[in-house]
Parts: sequence; C-alpha cells; structure tokens
Amino acid sequence: MDDEGRLAGDLPCLCCGYNLRGLPAESRCPECGAAVGRSVYGNKLAYCEPSWLTAVARGTNLLVYALILRIVFNIVSMVIFVALGMGGAYSAAVGYAFWGASILLGVILAIGCWMATSFDPALGKQENMYSARRIARGALIATVLLGAIDNLLNLAGFGATQVQLFLHSGVSFASLISYLICTGAFLQHARSMALRIPDQAMASKLRLATWGWPISVGVYLAGMQIMTLNAATQIMPAALATALWGIARLAAIPALVFGLWTLSLLSKYRKALLATAAQARSSWAQ
Ligand SMILES: [Zn+2]
Repeated sequence: MDDEGRLAGDLPCLCCGYNLRGLPAESRCPECGAAVGRSVYGNKLAYCEPSWLTAVARGTNLLVYALILRIVFNIVSMVIFVALGMGGAYSAAVGYAFWGASILLGVILAIGCWMATSFDPALGKQENMYSARRIARGALIATVLLGAIDNLLNLAGFGATQVQLFLHSGVSFASLISYLICTGAFLQHARSMALRIPDQAMASKLRLATWGWPISVGVYLAGMQIMTLNAATQIMPAALATALWGIARLAAIPALVFGLWTLSLLSKYRKALLATAAQARSSWAQ
C-alpha cells in the first residue's frame, strides 16, 4: 500500500488473476468487478471466488455421500449374494441390476471428484503443471476409461484363455493404480485447501491420509486381484497360494480401518468447505 492507499506491489485478483497493482484498496477489479479488498486478504478460502468455492464444496459433498452409499451398497449386495447363493436364485437379472447400480455410483463419484478439483481462478497462470489437482483429474480420467474397458471386457466374457486372463488382469491392475493415484492426489489437494481455511490440524491429518489411504487400501485390493488371477490360472504352487490368500485377506483389516478414518476426515473437510463457502458468499458483495 502506498501513501495514497494504492496497491504498491503486484497482486493478482483472487477472482480472475488480473494484476491489481496501482489500484485503490476500496476499488473494484477492472477486469471482473470483484472488490479489490478481497484480494488483499490473501488466498484464504473465505475471501476467494464464492462460485468456485461453492462448486468445490458441493463436489466434495457429493463425493462423500457417494462413498458412503458405495459402502452400504457393497454390504447389501454381499448379503444378498450370500443369501441367494451363487447359482439359482441369484439370477442374471439381479447381477445386472447390481452391475448397473455400481456403475451409476462410480459416475456420481467421478462427477463429485471433478467438481471438488475445480480450477481456482485466483491462481491465474501460476498453477504448477503437476499440481495435485491436475494429477487427481488426469488420474480420474484414466480410472474412468480403464474402468469402462474393464467392464466391457467383463461383458464380452474376455478371459477364456490364459493370455486373455492376463491381459484382462493387466487392465484391472492399471485401473487400480490410476484409482490409487487419483485418491492420493485428491487428498494432497484437500490438504492444500485445508491450509487455506486455515485448519492446520486437518491439513496434518490429510497429509497422513495422502499416503496411508493409497498404501493400506492398495495393498489389499492388489492382493485380491493377484489372488483372483491365480485362482483362475493356477500359476502359483498351492502352498504358496494358500499362504498369500491368508495375507491378502488379513490386509483387509488395515484397509478397512484406514478407509473409514479417511472417510470421516473427508466428511469433516466437506463440512468445513461448505461453511467456508457460505462465509465467502456472504462476506463480499458480488
Ligand atoms: Zn478480477
């Protein structure tokens, strides 16, 4: 700020990235009309573009509810599967209904993740090429594409020969890896957002989740994929397979504990974002 109350240094507008240097603090951005005062308060979320933050908060909200729905769905489908048995009553129709529902949930999850990683206009051109936000989105696209291919291969009954089985497993495994990268990058992005609330305690927990979640859940899911492939191809000696099956099943425990902890953390993050977005909408006239 100089003697006449004008901004002395370079300062990007938090709404559009325009350089506000030389403008009085009480004026408005000549590019987008947002109050200059907003940008003076730094990049705290409560002073950021309300429409952007609202989209991020709503996306996170959608994501958390879709994750909870998916857990409920998995439990319900498992109970029904066990109750009806593999053949007979567990008809193809029931199978297709569950398949459709799980795809629908996947689409909702993807939409939530996409919204929750919207571009912050305040960053302008300063955003890193390999920001966690961009990695999360790129990995999300890869996960959706690979997941679609995986489902099509399932539908086509691809896997009759051993070569087909290995190819199909390769697609499933690549899909798992991109899913884990997407989750880790998303949590890393959430951490940088928590720092702007600012909520240091939440940011520290999100940092732990950034690594803990992909590792604990990844080990379990990868173990399951490897053992399922082995069950179909029988390439491992029987004794080794039995031992590895035991380990793969045990890995469910840390995956479950860490998964539920991360979900409750994401739910707190979701609430904090919704509250901060409401604050952003009310703090500055548009
Ligand atoms: Zn502006």
